Amino acid sequence: SHLLEWRSFNKTRVYMSDLESALHYSLRVELSGHVSISGADLNALKKYTSVLAKFFPGRPSVKAALKTVDSWLQLQNVNEILYSDFRDVLDNVVQTSDAVLPEGVHWVGCQGSQSRYRGYPCGVWTLFHVLTVQAKEIGSADPLEVLQAMRGYIHSFFGCRECATHFESMAQGSVPQESMDRVNSLSSAVLWLWSRHNRVNNRLAGDLTEDPHFPKIQWPSPEMCPSCHGVKMSGEHTWNQEEVLSFLQNYFSSSRILTDYLR
Ligand code: FAD
Repeated sequence: SHLLEWRSFNKTRVYMSDLESALHYSLRVELSGHVSISGADLNALKKYTSVLAKFFPGRPSVKAALKTVDSWLQLQNVNEILYSDFRDVLDNVVQTSDAVLPEGVHWVGCQGSQSRYRGYPCGVWTLFHVLTVQAKEIGSADPLEVLQAMRGYIHSFFGCRECATHFESMAQGSVPQESMDRVNSLSSAVLWLWSRHNRVNNRLAGDLTEDPHFPKIQWPSPEMCPSCHGVKMSGEHTWNQEEVLSFLQNYFSSSRILTDYLR
């Protein structure tokens, strides 16, 4: 049945249950499609777990699980690992501690009106927006750390291959100034991801994949952030980037993530 048990939620907030569900899905469902992981894929996985261990603003038990799996992975000085070994470490079968990443997905803010809508892709965007904002909050030495981890993860593992191709071409940029590699500060990393997400929204508005209850808009709406929007003399819409940046830093900040429905 595609009738889901509906969880009431606030459409203008971020939920930890979505972030943990995205972690579960990326590390236990998408990765499990690979019996072994090597080369560029292994490198991408190491960068992904490294940013999760550093910046995921989670519960102590979840952070501990991410740190355990990351420390193990960074020590693997081999060209290839078995997914089953990675999974054993993630599921903590070796050690006994309270480090645990909950099993299964429980979408809240990422629920779709039907099961074919939203869910994991929504969780991936939310996770990486949160991580770019955390990298700025905590301070990362490398402004590209989170974006490169996302690029590698999407390229090597994201199940939607069409999405991966589109994202990679945005990361390369149609002109050099647009490329991800030009990002040179933690603030511009936050804004780069926001603006690319809006390009995807623009492309997908009205598409068959759009949940009719969650229309694709240029986000945030004027209702959510009036000061983010401006108009030129010519009447053309403009974004006030400084206002957008402070909006994003507040919206995705660790202190505002709601913990409702956590298991
Ligand atoms: P999503 O776009 O998933 O957004 C999730 C939430 O983030 C929204 O509900 C909103 O609260 C917030 N948000 C919206 N816009 C922004 C923004 N600009 N900045 C910050 N937060 C925002 N689908 C395709 O069909 N074709 C593709 O090529 C494609 N490429 C993708 C590439 C990537 C890297 C990812 C992660 C997903 C891609 N998808 C693609 C899936 C698509 O973008 C949506 O994730 C999916 O359709 C579900 O949409 P949604 O309504 O949950 O909102």
